[in-house]
Amino acid sequence: MSTDSNGPTLEQLREQARHCTACPLYQHATQTVFGVGSASSHVMLIGETPGDREDIEGLPFVGPAGALLDRALCDAGIDRRDCYVTNAVKHFKWEPRGERRLHKTPAQREMSACRRWLLGEIAALHPRLLICLGATAAQAIFGPSFRVTRARGQLLDSPLGVHAIATVHPSAVLRGPSPEERERSYQAFVADLVSARAALMSLGGARRAPAGPRTRGAAR
Ligand code: SF4
Repeated sequence: MSTDSNGPTLEQLREQARHCTACPLYQHATQTVFGVGSASSHVMLIGETPGDREDIEGLPFVGPAGALLDRALCDAGIDRRDCYVTNAVKHFKWEPRGERRLHKTPAQREMSACRRWLLGEIAALHPRLLICLGATAAQAIFGPSFRVTRARGQLLDSPLGVHAIATVHPSAVLRGPSPEERERSYQAFVADLVSARAALMSLGGARRAPAGPRTRGAAR
């Protein structure tokens, strides 16, 4: 993608997105959850939508999936403080289930409406690598026919002109049906992040921090 150094900054985009009404999702969410992280980050982690905790706190990846992501990044030797973290869709989509608000996957039209913010973040940040966490994020970058299962962990040229790697969303690891399955899924997730770290180093964007011990396990 062609980046525009005269385009809006991340702070300007964040402020503009606070008032976005481009799709109906803002009506039932607490607030816009924009990306966070250093404006000098070389890597952008992209999730799907904010969850219940993220909607309340106004920050991406602060709930259980965020805790798992933190552990996996650490185990892969990636410092989250070196990453810019965001979502493909900036408002929480949910449906009531008793007292709970149950996450719903955004529709294609909602992804399309929200893509301007994601593209704005990429243009403002100029990341060297995008890490797409889950199908919604990957399809926001590669298009609706992209399948994470066919290309996970592979360094790809995205249509935006930025290298990208796709893997699963950490909530998919948490949903594993058994401890053994969650552990297997967690180790595969960490392996994808290790590939992302190696790719980032080859692209000149990673610190040479040693990978952390990969023995701490999955969803606890
Ligand atoms: S989800 Fe995205 S496009 Fe829809 S209202 Fe929120 S910020 Fe705007």
